[in-house]
Amino acid sequence: MNVTRNSTAEWQRDDADHHLHPFSDIAQLSEKGVRVITHGEGVYIWDCEGEKIIDGMAGLWCVSLGYGRKELADVAAKQMNALPYYNTFFQTTTMPATALATLLAEVTPDGFNNVFYGSSGSESNDTMVRLVWRYWDAKGQSSKKTIIARENAYHGSTIAGASMGGMGYMHEQGPLPLPGFEHIEQPHWYFNGGDLTSDEYGLQAAGRLEEKILELGADTVAAFIGEPIQGAGGVIVPPDSYWPEIQRICQKYDVLLVSDEVICGFGRTGEWFGCQSFGFEPDLMTMAKGMSSGYLPISGVMVHDRVVDVLKGSGDFNHGYTYSGHPVSCAVAEATISIMRDEGIIDRVKNDVGPYFQKRLQEFLDHPLVGQVRGRGLIGALEMVKDKATHQPFDNVGDVGTICKNHCFENNIIMRATGDAMLLSPPLVITKDEIDELMNKARMCLDMTAKDIGLI
Ligand SMILES: *Cc1c(COP(=O)(O)O)cnc(C)c1O
Repeated sequence: MNVTRNSTAEWQRDDADHHLHPFSDIAQLSEKGVRVITHGEGVYIWDCEGEKIIDGMAGLWCVSLGYGRKELADVAAKQMNALPYYNTFFQTTTMPATALATLLAEVTPDGFNNVFYGSSGSESNDTMVRLVWRYWDAKGQSSKKTIIARENAYHGSTIAGASMGGMGYMHEQGPLPLPGFEHIEQPHWYFNGGDLTSDEYGLQAAGRLEEKILELGADTVAAFIGEPIQGAGGVIVPPDSYWPEIQRICQKYDVLLVSDEVICGFGRTGEWFGCQSFGFEPDLMTMAKGMSSGYLPISGVMVHDRVVDVLKGSGDFNHGYTYSGHPVSCAVAEATISIMRDEGIIDRVKNDVGPYFQKRLQEFLDHPLVGQVRGRGLIGALEMVKDKATHQPFDNVGDVGTICKNHCFENNIIMRATGDAMLLSPPLVITKDEIDELMNKARMCLDMTAKDIGLI
């Protein structure tokens, strides 16, 4: 760097003057000043003031192997020196792109043998839409174009991603969603289930898909997309009855089923993919975050053989990105996934640290703020409500979550707030001692929040 900055304030000044941040209020952030993160090791990151912070969110749900895995840096350096870039468009490939595709076929469920690469989760969802449209064209059913998703889903921030997503605060800033993207109720039993049991409600929520397909006409519906567990929406874990019923409805009406595995994929829920945790078999899977442990940008759409077989008869697919199959990203993803497999990391999430994490999380049910605890594997949420008996939310949803998130920030623990739900999704390599530290700090921040609003 050719500019020397002598203090945090100078970094903050230059950042405020020149850097527009995602999902942030530009003016407010400039005034508060950003935190400058300098390095990381395991489940910890450090800022330039020397503060050590426990990362309960694995970056943005992605740093599965934790920070500071030197092998991954070495793989990247080696590939950069050998071949930093070549494309995969013109009858060419690179060894890492092909090797990773082969490995992905091994670790994904049966019938998934082909990947289309991108660089982000949003791109993979855009690619998925293009593939799905192409599929129905190739089948001679060109009227099947509409994609159905859920309210409060997150599928990325490109225009197609934001259209599929069900975030009202994103749609407001468009004209979004684009035509041809429809939304149904999310399977949020705690707030929407009324007197129904979780499984009764799961069937009812899945039934919304059938209603929507009938309303639109099955001959116009191309696909249904959902996250096995909604991540950014608040770690919403659907009832066990939900996904099998969704699958049944998709099959009944000849609608492709897409699992957005961007968060759940690569071990987060204790299986390789979230669809395996919830017992359904999608036709396409989009994936990104855990794929390279966040060390480099990469994403992919896994396409089932039954879809690939149709696409094979349809000539050129006029879609792709300059960085589809980027050799350095592919090399790092291959190394990441090999580590996950060879070190038994997913098994550890399923049988050891995952159950421990969930047990510790359940203990928050005795907290005066916490109405519901949800989770699976190493992902979880604490839903803070005004009235635990009636599930009544706070009046201004998000205010209490913001108070709690600010305490987390001050106290060197990273938790995310969605509305008034506090979310956790730590690196998959977290130890039980580190889980204890995370839970103790989380409880301290919830206590401070309860005090602030006069509850204790
Ligand atoms: C983060 C996310 C995306 C978008 O991924 P980007 O890499 O940010 O484009 C898509 N789907 C889900 C479920 C996500 O969590």
